[in-house]
Formats: sequence, structure tokens, C-alpha cells
Amino acid sequence: MTGVTLRLDVDRWREHLRVVAESTPGLVPVIKGNGYGYGHARLADEATRLSADTVAVGVPAEVAAVRERFDGSIVVLQAWRPGDALAEDLADDDGVITTVSRLEDVRRLAETGKRTRVLIEVLTSMRRHGIAPEDLTAAIAALGDLRFEGWTIHLPLQLGAGYTEAERLGRAAVEARRGTLWYSHLPSEEAIGLSRQLGGPSDPVPVRLRVGTRLWLGDPGSRESTATVLDVHQVKRGMRIGYRQRAIPSDGWIVVVSGGTSHGIGLEAPTPAASLRQRAISAATGTLEAAGLALSPYTIGGRKRWFCEPPHMQASMIFLPRSQQPPEVGQEVPVELRLTTATVDRIVEV
Ligand SMILES: *Cc1c(COP(=O)(O)O)cnc(C)c1O
Repeated sequence: MTGVTLRLDVDRWREHLRVVAESTPGLVPVIKGNGYGYGHARLADEATRLSADTVAVGVPAEVAAVRERFDGSIVVLQAWRPGDALAEDLADDDGVITTVSRLEDVRRLAETGKRTRVLIEVLTSMRRHGIAPEDLTAAIAALGDLRFEGWTIHLPLQLGAGYTEAERLGRAAVEARRGTLWYSHLPSEEAIGLSRQLGGPSDPVPVRLRVGTRLWLGDPGSRESTATVLDVHQVKRGMRIGYRQRAIPSDGWIVVVSGGTSHGIGLEAPTPAASLRQRAISAATGTLEAAGLALSPYTIGGRKRWFCEPPHMQASMIFLPRSQQPPEVGQEVPVELRLTTATVDRIVEV
């Protein structure tokens, strides 16, 4: 079979999941988006194996797929907004915990008279969603019959100062009302310390940590991804090739491999300035990058090779210099995937 394959060492992966689960207070596995490359069903099964009582999804539409394989509670991370029909249905669902991030939304949801299980989101330095600390008391006062499940605090990725903010916001929250603090991107040791600091050693405030990437993708050695070689052509410098009929910069081979934009391959992330400088350097030194080519995630003959042109949909064209022995059609070559954007054709358990 051709395509992009992810080989997963299931035993090793599960051992990693177990270690993370054991060291994370109140672990809430996050299952969302492309399912971190593995898909919602597989992750929901693993959450069940880990005996998690609660998982989190990104948006309301993800609840159904997770529920097929997981019996516990499901938090919807995207904040509730009036007018979203599915979110309004889920507000009646006892297995779902709804996130509310604006004072006016607490009021709106309370006015429906539903007994929705809610987490109230506190505004952090991310400035994405949340109610400012000075309005938390008003949010509690507006709850009505809504069932308060705790506070949600979504910190930026840790850059050193996270603890101070986690503590400051956690304190403001429990002063408004004592409840479980649900954090994202807070290290376990800090969460445990904070829980004691806010509640006292004999009466720690319950803390739960939501984890996606570090849980599912935290052990790169548990997986390997490959793509099938679909075709090989010898080319001469200056020959025009591909959709864009670009000239090839030197003699060599074109290797056509499985995998393209539909797999999330060759989709460039926004570039920080450092790599712009790197680009200027490679332009000055006359590399293939200077010829307008981009380094691909495919490894052939022990090195990452260059795309001949930006990939499209399901296949990519890779340039291999003349000095190299080209691979055989049908051979598998390693491809590095960014699993938060990738969609593979198959996952093989090894
Ligand atoms: C997506 C998300 C997470 C999981 O993020 P990772 O970096 O993948 O662990 C945690 N919390 C919130 C609120 C999220 O939206």
C-alpha cells in the first residue's frame, strides 16, 4: 500500500502515557483538532485505558466522536457563545462541561434556566478569552442554577514567569469562590505546590491539568513515519519540471513521494525573524534555498532533501543530487511530520 504511514510502538507509547498520567494531578487529556495525528477515536480509547474521568475537546462538534469511545465527562474548551445551536444543546447535557468566558455569557446562560455544568474562564496574560479578576465575584453572583465546576486558567506556554501568574489568578479565583482550578500549560510540580499554597497543606485546593501535546506526542521515540516512493526520473540541470515548470538547478533525480498538503506536509508555519536571517545567509552562500527551493521533511540517503516545488495535495517532488543512488519505486523513506498538523493515510501498530 502506498501513502504516508505512521508506525506506532503501542507498548512504548502506553508506557509514556501512563508515566505522564501518574505524575500529573487530575490529568484531563485534551483530544481535539486532528487528534494530534492519531485521531479522536484512538485518543478517546487511550483516555479510557488511563481511567481518566474527564477529557477535553476543542469545540462542540468534537463531543460526539469522543463520546462514542469515552464514558466520562467532556469539557468543551472553546468558550460558549449565544447563538451556537450545538453548544446550546450541549448546555443541557449532563456529561458535558461548558466553558464560559464573558460575564454577559454567564448571565445569558443562567437566564435559560438550565443547570449546565460550567467552568468560568479567568483572563490570563494570553488575553485570549476570560473574565478579568475584578469581575469574578460578579460572575459567581450571576450563576443562578448553573452548576459551578471550577475555574479555568489557560496560561501562555511557560516562559519562566508562569507560576507567579498562575498563583495570582488562582488566588483571585478561589477568593471569589473556592473551586477546582483547571490549568493548562502549568508543570505538575508547580500545580501541586500551588494547590497547597492556596488551600494550606491540610486542605489543598483541587487542581486539574489539561494536557495534549506533552501527553500524546511527548515521546517521539514511540513513533516513526514514512512515505512511499512513487516514481523516480533522471533530470539534467536546466530542465523544466513540475506544475510550475521550474528549472532544475543541477543534474540529479526527481523522486516523487507520497504525501502533500492534504497530509499537512509542506505547509509552512509563520517564520520567526531568526530564520529570515538564516534565509539571507543561505541566499548569500548560494544554496538550493537561494534557487527558491525549500527543504523537505523527507530523508533520502541519510539527509533531508529539497522540494523541487511546493507540494500539492497527495504527492511531493523531491530533488536528489546526481551523486546519490536513487531509491526504488515502492520503497519507504522517512518523513518527518508535525503531528499537530498532519493527517496520515494509516497508522500501523508495531
Ligand atoms: C488546546 C488546549 C490545551 C492543550 O494544549 P497542548 O499544548 O496541546 O497541551 C490545553 N488547554 C486549552 C485551553 C487548550 O485550548
